[in-house]
Amino acid sequence: MATPTGRPIPLLCPSDQVGRCARCQQPCHRYGVGANPLCQTCRQAVETARQQQKTSPAT
Ligand SMILES: [Zn+2]
Repeated sequence: MATPTGRPIPLLCPSDQVGRCARCQQPCHRYGVGANPLCQTCRQAVETARQQQKTSPAT
């Protein structure tokens, strides 16, 4: 089932795949399949910042 974006997702991965988020140090799915060094919140923040950079003109 697809999970709607914008909702907090509970950690459903094995505990040995849980690590600290590289940004906020919160526990997140860091290792294994589908892992990411950033937690959901930080991933979203980084993505938003990236999109804002893209749309703003470089001077
Ligand atoms: Zn984080």
